[in-house]
Amino acid sequence: LIDPMASGVFAGNPEKMSVNSCFPRIKEIESEYRSLILGLIKLQIAAKKAGTKDKPQAAPAGKLTSFYNGMSELSDAIAAKLGSRLQLSTSVESLNRDGNHYTLHLSNGTEQEAERIILAAPAFAQANILQNLAPDIAQILTDLYYPPLAVCCFGYPQHKIKHDLNGFGFLVPSRERKKILGTLWDVSIFPNRAPEGHVLLRTMVGGARAADYAVEDPEQLSDMVQAELADIMGVDATPDFIKTYRHDKSIPQYTLGHAQRLATIDQLLKQHPNLILTGNAYRGVALNDCVANAYRIAEILVP
Ligand SMILES: Cc1cc2nc3c(=O)[nH]c(=O)nc-3n(C[C@H](O)[C@H](O)[C@H](O)COP(=O)(O)OP(=O)(O)OC[C@H]3O[C@@H](n4cnc5c(N)ncnc54)[C@H](O)[C@@H]3O)c2cc1C
Repeated sequence: LIDPMASGVFAGNPEKMSVNSCFPRIKEIESEYRSLILGLIKLQIAAKKAGTKDKPQAAPAGKLTSFYNGMSELSDAIAAKLGSRLQLSTSVESLNRDGNHYTLHLSNGTEQEAERIILAAPAFAQANILQNLAPDIAQILTDLYYPPLAVCCFGYPQHKIKHDLNGFGFLVPSRERKKILGTLWDVSIFPNRAPEGHVLLRTMVGGARAADYAVEDPEQLSDMVQAELADIMGVDATPDFIKTYRHDKSIPQYTLGHAQRLATIDQLLKQHPNLILTGNAYRGVALNDCVANAYRIAEILVP
């Protein structure tokens, strides 16, 4: 159960991950009912009695959501709201503090003063920014591993795929010893992502479990994924649309000790009033978690 979920959500290696930090609901159910299976059965019986429609879940539900035109709708909407306050193509290089005043040093050579700072960049970028101001925090963030992950998008004419695509796709447990982590049947999840009469299959490769495969050259990667899809789903057609994306640093890995490291960071942050660290490196990698954490922070700042 945990193994394919670790791949599906974190592109992670289940041997090294912290269940408490990655899937806190599993830990909650286990602590309350002594066993995950027993807990899920009891919760299902209770839900049935109460006439609740949604089944109790220990893990993220197998339903994927997005915006109609993709995730960029979210960043476009935020950009529109920020207007001229948004500075694109300008990174923060470092941060200094003088009393309660912070100075951001930007890549365009300018500086910006601020009384409150929220860093939401990836952990390795936050580590660079905090190198002078908070080297202890920077070290913890530097150690957070982001494995490489490749995403292969294949489009086919619908009639060439014989396999039933009614579902979200599949995740591969490590004991199957396959080279891919899983494939999303995008055509069933987001029907507008392929032209009429075509299907889109999106396959994840690499992650912490098999990082080497993610860095293969795009042609080799594509051949390998086609061979795996032939083996697993019986897809023998050649895709007429191929696009591969490589994320050299994909998703932060909440390995054993993650909660302890966060507690240490929280302790160290007490020396830096009004400096807030957030983003997917801390308390949830799913986009929903990032948004929920952002609301939590906004409420602290603007009660
Ligand atoms: C291949 C892949 C598939 C995924 N699929 C899903 C999914 O289906 N569902 C889901 O919920 N989650 C998914 N995730 C995870 C989710 O997308 C991320 O965890 C989430 O988007 C992270 O949001 P974030 O704001 O923390 O970081 P990011 O979206 O990485 O944003 C960080 C921002 O910081 C900026 N930045 C970096 N350095 C600096 C600097 N020095 N100064 C200023 N700005 C800087 C970057 O330009 C970027 O805009 C996926 C992740 C990957 C890699």
